[in-house]
Amino acid sequence: MNSKPDVLIIGAGPAGSMSAALLARAGLDVVVVEKSVFPRFAIGESLLPQCMNLLEEADLLDAVHSRNYQVKEGGFFRHGDRVAEFDFSQQFTDGWKYTYQVPRDDFDHVLAMEAEKKGAEIHYGADVTAVRFGTQRAEIDVTFPDAVESTFVAKFVLDASGGGRVLPRLLDLSRPTGLRLRSSQFSHVSGDAGDPLVAKRKIVVAIHPEDRGVWYWVIPFASGKTSVGIVAEPEFFSGSYADEEERYRALLAQEPNLAARLNDYDVLYEPRMVSGYAHSVSKLYGDQFAILGNAGEFLDPVFSSGVTIALKSASLASNALIRQFKGETVDWKTDFEDELMRGVDAFKTYVMGWYDMAFQDVIFSEYKDRSCVDMICSILAGYVWDKENPLAVKHERGLQSIVELCALYSSS
Ligand SMILES: Cc1cc2nc3c(=O)[nH]c(=O)nc-3n(C[C@H](O)[C@H](O)[C@H](O)COP(=O)(O)OP(=O)(O)OC[C@H]3O[C@@H](n4cnc5c(N)ncnc54)[C@H](O)[C@@H]3O)c2cc1C
Repeated sequence: MNSKPDVLIIGAGPAGSMSAALLARAGLDVVVVEKSVFPRFAIGESLLPQCMNLLEEADLLDAVHSRNYQVKEGGFFRHGDRVAEFDFSQQFTDGWKYTYQVPRDDFDHVLAMEAEKKGAEIHYGADVTAVRFGTQRAEIDVTFPDAVESTFVAKFVLDASGGGRVLPRLLDLSRPTGLRLRSSQFSHVSGDAGDPLVAKRKIVVAIHPEDRGVWYWVIPFASGKTSVGIVAEPEFFSGSYADEEERYRALLAQEPNLAARLNDYDVLYEPRMVSGYAHSVSKLYGDQFAILGNAGEFLDPVFSSGVTIALKSASLASNALIRQFKGETVDWKTDFEDELMRGVDAFKTYVMGWYDMAFQDVIFSEYKDRSCVDMICSILAGYVWDKENPLAVKHERGLQSIVELCALYSSS
C-alpha cells in the first residue's frame, strides 16, 4: 500500500476514476479511496455525447465501447399529446452523434478497472473520515474493513466523493443552489417501458399531464431492462401506500403512456427515493485540494448533466494538477473553477427554465427554425462549453430570445 501518494482521490465514481486515469497516465502516484465495494449501484444512467469526448481524452472510451451498452441517439419529450424529438445527429456543435445508456454498477466498475490498469491504486470498502491540511502535505484518515484505521499523507487531495461531500462538510463549503427542493423515486423494470412513438435509442422524458413540475424518465438498457424514475417536489411522493413498489406504481400510473403498460412489467428492485440532491459550494479548490463532480456542483437529473459535469471537472482539475506537478504556475480560478462553472451555469439556466416552464414551452414549440433547434440540441448533448454556440455562451439572454421567438410564432 502506497501511503504517501502524490495525489489521493476520495471516491471512485466517474469523476474519481477519470482523474485517476489521467493522473496515473501522466506518471503521478495516485491512490483512490472508495467507500463501497464495486460493483455497486449508482443512479445517473443516461450519458450525454459530451461524455464521449471526455472519456476519449482519458483513453477510457474503448473500454466503454466494448461493453455494448444501449446506444442513445437523442431525447424524446412528451406532455400529453405534445411531443418533441431531438436527434444528436443534427446539432450545432461538431460533436458526437450518440452516446450510451449505462447501468452504473457496470460502467463505474469499468472506469475504475481502467484507471487501475493505468497505474492508479484503488482501495475499496475504505471510508475517508477526516482530512487535515498542513503546509506541504495533507493527512487523510481512512477506515478500512474490520475497523482497521490508517492515515495517508498526500501532496494533493481530489474530493470526488459525490453525495458523500467529504471536503464541503469538513471545510463548511456548501452553499444554497437556488433550486427548489426536489425528490426522485426510481427502479428498474423488466421489458421495454418506452414510449410507443419512439425507438429505444432515445431517452424519454414524460411530463405529468396535470402538473408540469413533475416528470418521468425512461432509460432503456441493452439488457432489455429499463430504468424508470419520477422527479417532483417532495409533497408529490407523500401519501400512504402499503410499500414503496405500490407508491411507485401509483405515481407511474398518473402518466398515461406509462400507465398503459404498467401491468406488463415487473419492478426489479424495491424503488429507491433520494431527496435534496442539488448541491453547490462556495469554492471548488484550495492550496492542496480540488472538488470534483457531485461533491461540488450538482443541479438536477433533468437533461442528464451529472456525469458530464463530473467528467469535465475531472479533466480540468487533472490537467491543471499535471502542470502544477511539472512546476508550472496554475491559475486554479481561471483554469478550473471559472471554466467548469461556465458550463454548469449554462446547464443551470436551462434547468431553471425547465421548471419555470419557459424552456418546456420552447421544447414543444411549433417554431422549428433549424439553427435554433440545432443549438438547443447541442445543449441537450452536453456541449455547454462550446464557445461558438450563442445558447451556451449567452445562455440567459439566449433562452430569453428563443422564448420570445416561440411566443411570437405561436401568436401569429
Ligand atoms: C435521481 C437522479 C438521477 C440522475 N440521473 C442522471 C442521468 O441520467 N445522467 C447523468 O449524467 N447524471 C444523472 N444523475 C447525476 C449522477 O448521479 C451524478 O452526477 C454522478 O454520479 C456524479 O459522479 P461523481 O463521480 O461526482 O460521484 P458518484 O458517482 O456519486 O461517486 C462518488 C463515490 O464516492 C464514494 N464516497 C462517498 N463518500 C466517501 C468517503 N467518505 N470515502 C470514500 N469514498 C466515498 C461513493 O461510494 C461513490 O462511489 C442523477 C442524479 C440523481 C439524484
